[in-house]
Amino acid sequence: MKAEDRFPQLEVDLGKLKENLTALRERCQDSFVGIVGVVKGVNAWPEIVNVFDAAGFPYLATSRLDQLQKMRARGVKTPLMLLRIPMLSELPGVVELADASLQSDLTVLRSLNSEAKRQGKRHGVLLMIDLGDLREGFWSAEELVDAAVETEQELKSLELLGVGVNLGCYGSILPDKRNMQGLTSLAFDVERAIGRELRLVSGGASTSVQMTLAGMMPGRINNLRLGEICLLGSANNGFAPDFLHRDVFTFRAEVVECRDKPSFPVGQLGVDAFGKPGVYIDRGIRRRALLAIGKVDCGDCFDLSPRMPGVEVIGASGDHTILDVEEAKDKVKVGDVLEFDVNYASLVHLTNTPGVELICKE
Ligand SMILES: *Cc1c(COP(=O)(O)O)cnc(C)c1O
Repeated sequence: MKAEDRFPQLEVDLGKLKENLTALRERCQDSFVGIVGVVKGVNAWPEIVNVFDAAGFPYLATSRLDQLQKMRARGVKTPLMLLRIPMLSELPGVVELADASLQSDLTVLRSLNSEAKRQGKRHGVLLMIDLGDLREGFWSAEELVDAAVETEQELKSLELLGVGVNLGCYGSILPDKRNMQGLTSLAFDVERAIGRELRLVSGGASTSVQMTLAGMMPGRINNLRLGEICLLGSANNGFAPDFLHRDVFTFRAEVVECRDKPSFPVGQLGVDAFGKPGVYIDRGIRRRALLAIGKVDCGDCFDLSPRMPGVEVIGASGDHTILDVEEAKDKVKVGDVLEFDVNYASLVHLTNTPGVELICKE
């Protein structure tokens, strides 16, 4: 059976993706901002990595070594960056597979230097400052400046590329004038302490594109690390410029049952398949369709948005997703394949499970 005939399937339109990358590169370039292309949202899907590799970005990046390994094996030409601050136990792999990495700990920097020396390599590092999102990063600017000076003067197998900040990941902090100014003044402090200019001042991820395109970024910020907005044409702060495609991906799943049933469960209520008490609204008898795809494949079924009007996701178990199709009664039957838009969370799940067929539209 051809891959296109197997379901569930996730299709990527490589032409639309390429247009998104080009548009973002050109527009960010107008503000003197370069892009690190982030592919962790699609598990470094090889054909997608190829499009990123051809986009003219200074770095491609992901959070995990197994994905960097896949990219190396494909012969990616763009330098590679590791996004997740590394485990001490994985430093040999970091030096072997990545040209650069994000760092926030002096102990790790020193060990990384020893490992790079051992492998006869020079490894680039971007020191992260935490400006309130409370994930990775030095909390004290002074401590970061000290680490930068030690890296510059003593850790000779490391190259201090610059400084960066991460926002909107744990603490859901948005980029604004205040934190971007904070990053800028940190960059100046480091530059004063080491006596030279930094190559990269990295002002965040997709949520920072809006400020950049509005010309609101302090001039010293010259880099962003972008995944979501490249892939989905939008950032999770709601920014979705009209020059980007928002339908790069199409998810398709097959209907395995379609019939009228009550909307409120019948009998004594316990817990659902995942041990949680369910919430049900009694809307009487409704036409429902069951899809052969579940939480195991997509994480949260409510992250999938049906494209057919009148179709609504109402719940899921591990292997099934339940749709209310009452308002599209005449259009849905067993064996039909329904299309969905995906978000970043569902994209991550769908590309990390062997149960989903990945197909490319050239
Ligand atoms: C995932 C990640 C990014 C990219 O985030 P998007 O929201 O997908 O643009 C950037 N930086 C770091 C450190 C990340 O982990």
